[in-house]
Amino acid sequence: MLYDFRPMPGQLDTDSLLLLHDALAELEEGFVKLPEPAMRSADPASLRRVLLEVAGRMRNNYPYYHPQYAGQMLKPPHAVARLAYALAMWINPNNHALDGGRASSAMEKEAVAGIASMFGWATHLGHLTSGGTMANLEALWVAGQLKPGSTVLASSQAHYTHGRISAVLKLPFEPIAADRDGRMDLAALEKRLQAGGVGIVVATLGTTAVGSVDPLPGILALRERYGFRLHADCAYGGYYALAGNLEAPARAAYDRLGEVDSIVIDPHKHGLQPYGCGCVLFRDPAVGTHYRHDSPYTYFSSKELHLGEISLECSRPGAAAVALWATQRLYPLTRGGEFAGMLEDCRAAALAFHARLADDPRFIAAFPPELDIVAWAMRAQDAADSSAKARATFERAANAGLHLALAELPVEFFGDPWGSGGTVTALRSVLMKPEHRGALPAIAKLLSESAG
Ligand SMILES: *Cc1c(COP(=O)(O)O)cnc(C)c1O
Repeated sequence: MLYDFRPMPGQLDTDSLLLLHDALAELEEGFVKLPEPAMRSADPASLRRVLLEVAGRMRNNYPYYHPQYAGQMLKPPHAVARLAYALAMWINPNNHALDGGRASSAMEKEAVAGIASMFGWATHLGHLTSGGTMANLEALWVAGQLKPGSTVLASSQAHYTHGRISAVLKLPFEPIAADRDGRMDLAALEKRLQAGGVGIVVATLGTTAVGSVDPLPGILALRERYGFRLHADCAYGGYYALAGNLEAPARAAYDRLGEVDSIVIDPHKHGLQPYGCGCVLFRDPAVGTHYRHDSPYTYFSSKELHLGEISLECSRPGAAAVALWATQRLYPLTRGGEFAGMLEDCRAAALAFHARLADDPRFIAAFPPELDIVAWAMRAQDAADSSAKARATFERAANAGLHLALAELPVEFFGDPWGSGGTVTALRSVLMKPEHRGALPAIAKLLSESAG
């Protein structure tokens, strides 16, 4: 399915502000019984001057919203999220306790339940966080409460924060080798499990560098034998559970995701949200007991669950929950739905891009992408020369209006063409916008002209 992609009027969809005006009027209706407040506001001319100065400063950015930004894991939120977030900011609810964020706490519970049901969980414990790092911290903190002092394992391609989070939690951390496809090596994992002392394994479904999906069915089989707690870091790739165009190994991993103990997913990556929106989910709601604490200032108003009672953070933006709720209202998290179609378009773009790269003798494409991240090295006499060519191509492409990314990756990902081992500076493109599919001919042409 091709996403209904209309050119936006201008570059930044400024017309959508009219809708915000209408929605704010509707919100204001709810409060008209109060006398009009006397409020201190800024002098309009000064406000205007500062805002235009901000606009000038913000020009110093890459055009993350544009399909020709095909570099890092970045994209602006969908209009519905941006507008709902802005609307909520006029109230600025705090989802710590119910009297700070009444509607938005209810919306958070509904939105998080929607994400849980995407993984087949009818019951769960979970909430939004400031991002994937905080969400992973909570998941590993709970795991550490259940398996005190035991070692945490994650693949060498797992997100770099797992080692640091483990250090914060005072849990020993060890990386497990990744194979040539960037997935956790099951033989290496089993070997380490045999040595003992492991209580927690992190599977990554969608690595940050290249979007590889760890072999979850094999890891689950090892859990049967070695009895560790299993956390799935799906910060990047979680929503791909909905996609209908995955290859068999990735599909098999997503199909069994509901069997892990905890899941992290980042709505601010593939969920169309502004930054400040991660999510942690636990399969067993009873882990809530580990969070038990009292707050003399805030938990007096209701016997209902305050989200602060199951979160390590105190204040959290209710606006983030409102934006996510609105987005899921517009785009339900269903297989075969419009949102799933957006992910399928991203993946189709990545496959098409990979095929073009594999066809061009100037490039050495990595393995075909499992999700929507494509990596390729420059053909050259050795890894150093290849790295230099990648940097030059990156610069020339940026000057031509095509924004790529660079990544230091194992040469095995490219079939170790120089027999050297080690790493190479490669080019990397995160095709996480559905518009990338339609823009692929332009992207390929600009890359070809920039590659020299
Ligand atoms: C992005 C990412 C994280 C970190 O999430 P933040 O939201 O940036 O804090 C963790 N794990 C994976 C796999 C990621 O892609």
